[in-house]
Amino acid sequence: MPQSSSATGGKMRKLLILACLILAVLGRKTFEGHQVLRITAANDVQISLLKNLTDHEHLELDFWREPVHESLPVDVRVPSSSLHRVKSFLKNNKIHYKIMIQDLQDLLDEEQQEMMRSRAHQPKSTDGFNYSTYHTLDEIYSFIDMLVTENPQLVSKIVIGQSYERRPLNVLKFSTGSNRPGIWIDTGIHSREWVTQASGTWFAKMIVASYNRDPALTAILNTFDIFLEIVTNPDGFQFTHTSDRLWRKTRKPNRGSSCIGVDPNRNWDVNFGGPGSYNDPCDDRYYGPYANSESEVKAIVDFVKSHGKLKAFLSIHSYSQFLLYPYGYTSTPCRDNAELYNLAWKAVTALSRPYGTRYRFGSIINVIYQASGSSVDWSYNQGIKYSYAFELRDTGHFGFALPANQIIPTAYETWLALMVIMEHAKNNPY
Ligand SMILES: [Zn+2]
Repeated sequence: MPQSSSATGGKMRKLLILACLILAVLGRKTFEGHQVLRITAANDVQISLLKNLTDHEHLELDFWREPVHESLPVDVRVPSSSLHRVKSFLKNNKIHYKIMIQDLQDLLDEEQQEMMRSRAHQPKSTDGFNYSTYHTLDEIYSFIDMLVTENPQLVSKIVIGQSYERRPLNVLKFSTGSNRPGIWIDTGIHSREWVTQASGTWFAKMIVASYNRDPALTAILNTFDIFLEIVTNPDGFQFTHTSDRLWRKTRKPNRGSSCIGVDPNRNWDVNFGGPGSYNDPCDDRYYGPYANSESEVKAIVDFVKSHGKLKAFLSIHSYSQFLLYPYGYTSTPCRDNAELYNLAWKAVTALSRPYGTRYRFGSIINVIYQASGSSVDWSYNQGIKYSYAFELRDTGHFGFALPANQIIPTAYETWLALMVIMEHAKNNPY
């Protein structure tokens, strides 16, 4: 009946408005009923079946670990609406899988509650800062300012540029003398890898706390300046807090597409646009319209070039527990392959000491996949020999939703590996 259907329509509209209001207040994408599946392919054929699955955009799959080779597991977040189809597909093709995360939203709710509990106590100093919880962008930026205020002789903040949404790109400089060669460390270039920004915050405090106490770190700081960019992709990071916890890319709109953002780790000027990067703005590995198109990347490029004396370039990601060195874009070993291999072995050995965390290590293309336009390939080709990328905890049990009680252990073990690399750089000047 026209009458009753218009009455229903009116009710629906009111409900819709209410739903929009609630969404505006909450504002966050929900992952209720989303599962993360761990898929183990048995052979090449199954790998290519899984690769085909990545093309089915309507399934809205989010590959946390892509199908590459049968020796590596595949982790994929599947929205509840696609679960049935994906599981049937796997069963029909006799591809083995298990459910790693039963309901992703449950984990993210716990993460939020943990943050809320911690937020009751806003710290007045970096001693009172809670390193074992995740923090918002504002909280990390005020941490940076507190650290500088507390340690004016040792730490300064330099702003190397602006993000697309005009946020400052803050870099902490730890320095005990002038005209020193430098070490670069960045965390959080992929915004959803929250344990990396949290670890970066912990590293900053560790450097300050260790100077003049720990002889090894003191010797490093008497040789090098350390530059640490904790929130390398601030727009993306802000967006992970307000809207989509699993946002990876930058937030710049793309011409001719409704999809936002570029993968800032495929945007570097090294074999730009080559294999292992994608020309689709809707893909999480979209390389962008041209090399250095992202101001977050360009700022580092300009900084590295103008500094001219960086001796190590360490870029921190999660997850998978890998320590990687160039190259990603080619299978030709880099000139320093043997040295980088041996040093990686020493670093992961140190890393495993406190908790037994095991890492795989090697060149990017050998350990994970071919990737073009990534930061450490670029930095290596700029002459920075000690160029490494880390993939921190875990190996997929929690993935990007690593519980906050693992932040400090993760940061600590990673720090031991960083120390090995920085000491080696100090003892082997070039
Ligand atoms: Zn990453």
